[in-house]
Amino acid sequence: MILRITIFVVTVFLEVSCQTKQEETTMADRQQSGNPYYSRTDTSVLTIPNSAWKKVLPAGVYAVAREKDTERAFTGKYWDFEGLGTYYCAVCGNKLFRSDAKFASTCGWPSFFEAVRQGAVVYEPDGSYGMNRIEVLCGRCGSHLGHLFDDGPLPTGKRYCMNSIVLGFAPDDTTHQNRQ
Ligand SMILES: [Zn+2]
Repeated sequence: MILRITIFVVTVFLEVSCQTKQEETTMADRQQSGNPYYSRTDTSVLTIPNSAWKKVLPAGVYAVAREKDTERAFTGKYWDFEGLGTYYCAVCGNKLFRSDAKFASTCGWPSFFEAVRQGAVVYEPDGSYGMNRIEVLCGRCGSHLGHLFDDGPLPTGKRYCMNSIVLGFAPDDTTHQNRQ
């Protein structure tokens, strides 16, 4: 009888452990707490109105992502950051850039010479402030990320000049090979 109870307890314990692990995975995927649209695995295009984004995004992220504000140069967390890993959209979790496409730029914003895949970002002509620029937006959620210039290094000659606040960084996991 005691043996049967012990087996029962151990089984329940194992089930609870597995459940906790599953919840942790889900939490990692939805890193932005309180943002139901955030996912690093779901690539479906989002058409969420700003009124809904305003409820789930921190004010600073909302101002850049949805109102096209620009963070001040040399103030963002990634402009001179050199970690190896992947950059995601801080609004929706869309994979945007790899660290091996990042280069040391003196402009004060994180700069990349290419996006991680075609469609990761989309482009719009931007004539604001009397300038002729190309705006870069997230390919999944349409959030403003920054601008694209033609003064980048080889092989593309492009400079994706991004705002740190709309990027999230995940370091490469050298212990697990199955990371997305
Ligand atoms: Zn996005």
